[in-house]
Amino acid sequence: MNKHRILVTGGAGFIGSHVADLFLSQGHEVLVIDNLSTGKPEFVSPQADFKQIDITDEAAVSAAIQEFKPTVIDHHAAHILVGNSVAHPQFDAQNNIIGLLNIMQAGVAAGSVTKVIFAATGGAMYGNKQTPFTEEMKEQPLSPYGISKRSGELYLNFYHELYGIPFISLRYANVFGPRQNAHGESGVVAIFSEMLAAGKTPVINGDGTHTRDYVYVADVAQANLLALESDFVGELNIGTGREISTNQVFDAVCQKFGIQTEKTYGPDRPGEQVTSSLSANKAKSILNWAPSVTFEDGLTKVVEWYTHNS
Ligand code: NAD
Repeated sequence: MNKHRILVTGGAGFIGSHVADLFLSQGHEVLVIDNLSTGKPEFVSPQADFKQIDITDEAAVSAAIQEFKPTVIDHHAAHILVGNSVAHPQFDAQNNIIGLLNIMQAGVAAGSVTKVIFAATGGAMYGNKQTPFTEEMKEQPLSPYGISKRSGELYLNFYHELYGIPFISLRYANVFGPRQNAHGESGVVAIFSEMLAAGKTPVINGDGTHTRDYVYVADVAQANLLALESDFVGELNIGTGREISTNQVFDAVCQKFGIQTEKTYGPDRPGEQVTSSLSANKAKSILNWAPSVTFEDGLTKVVEWYTHNS
């Protein structure tokens, strides 16, 4: 395997820090840039270089990339809150579109980049269609967040066409695992785990029958590693194809903590997707990627982590 110099943006965050750790374990050199808005410095391995930079700061991004001269950019830094993207679409676009363009312009100028791996969304990409979603389905993002992620893919296609920089966009399902921020809106496994670990009872939005596809973070990191060595250019779903309802997540987390509690329901969030799951058949045939950690086994690791970290 070639040794790479990999820039991991958002590498102090939940998924990015697992990705950076896996790259380091394979002997690659890693520079993490992150503004620490939701990421934590303690998630960055001491083996990685770290620069606290906001990707909307064009001059700082340009200087860091010019100095490091990455061979690979693995782009995870983003504004990730769908609800907030509806309220503040300009903020979402500033981070997710302008931020990406700052990185890509600097990457082109550095002349060293041979591949870009992009953290996109499968859950917010396809609209309300029959599950499981496949890459052949027409993209129909319904939120500014989904639109900014799709725009990112279209821009990466432009950089590939014009400058010959290949990209792989990994469209993640709902990722879960240790280090997930429980103060966001979509990490229901993290939210339930942190509250139950603190002796509180979480409120379920709606009637709890909405389903999501939960993919474990180590499997997602593995998809990034496989993408490093692949010649494929384009989009790949990264999910399990299995739909799990919020009620089932709640019951499973309670069971792992050994807690018996009544469910408390609150109002549904408007515009919430009812069902969501991704077919990862294409990732299987192209990257030979398949999820290896079941929801139940992943949950055991999450509950262990929250028991020691909350
Ligand atoms: P996270 O919030 O833990 O990670 C995002 C990281 O980016 C954080 O460390 C944050 O500090 C950093 N960041 C945010 N804005 C920045 C900016 N302007 N400049 C520099 N750094 C900035 O969230 P996550 O769940 O690990 O998400 C990582 C990526 O994966 C995101 O691109 C997200 O859209 C994508 N994704 C996540 C999921 C999921 O289920 N968690 C699903 C689909 C896609």
